[in-house]
Amino acid sequence: MAGNWKMNLLPNSAQTLVEALSNEKPQHTQVLYFPSAPLLGCMAQWNLGKAQFGSQNIYSQSSGAFTGEISAELVHALGGQFTLLGHSERRTLFGETSAQLQDKIVAAWKHQLTPILCIGETLEERESARHFEVIQHQLLDSLNELLPITSPLILAYEPVWAIGTGKTASVDQAVEVHQFIRRVLNELQSGLGDSTSILYGGSVNAGNAGELFSQSDIDGGLVGGASLKSEDFRSIIHIQDQCLHG
Ligand code: PEP
Repeated sequence: MAGNWKMNLLPNSAQTLVEALSNEKPQHTQVLYFPSAPLLGCMAQWNLGKAQFGSQNIYSQSSGAFTGEISAELVHALGGQFTLLGHSERRTLFGETSAQLQDKIVAAWKHQLTPILCIGETLEERESARHFEVIQHQLLDSLNELLPITSPLILAYEPVWAIGTGKTASVDQAVEVHQFIRRVLNELQSGLGDSTSILYGGSVNAGNAGELFSQSDIDGGLVGGASLKSEDFRSIIHIQDQCLHG
């Protein structure tokens, strides 16, 4: 269960949040935090309990004259173990392309970070019934040249129209796309879809977590707004853990 803090929280509030949840010991759920970059160095100093953390982005190069970027090597040196890649806000606001993400995935692997590759369609793409095509392109354009994939990779399906809008994909919509992603991955490389965790993201909250995470094709969540409040995130973690237990 991954909490994407986006560009929110100052050091005090971030520490209070993670330490409020540090006694949580979900049996089946790995909790991940994605703070904004300046907080990465603090995360290893704070008591996270069993949770781990990562960055919201990395650059494709390990070091050099790339003002404003952060490297996978630095994230790893600060204790991070994961990185989000291709969040829709990165794609739409900062022009990230699936082809660029391919290089970022390689950089993550090179420095022992597990990438969480975010994919998903806009409202206009869904309304014109192009969502499967868009998702397939996002997958192929980022992964095609990386085959065979032998390093850890996590996918996150996040319909853009559901992120931060309060609108969640219906269970049927989410499951249908998760199954599609598994099929595309299995076609790319035998067994890849079956062995890859696929998270759902888009206005997840304590009220809708149960119906989403009880689906066997939905392996976990990427949570934005509701991960900023310890009580909300705690409830979501518990619900997910119950679903995996049951
Ligand atoms: C996200 O940031 O990836 C996200 C899904 O945000 P929210 O849960 O607020 O929709």
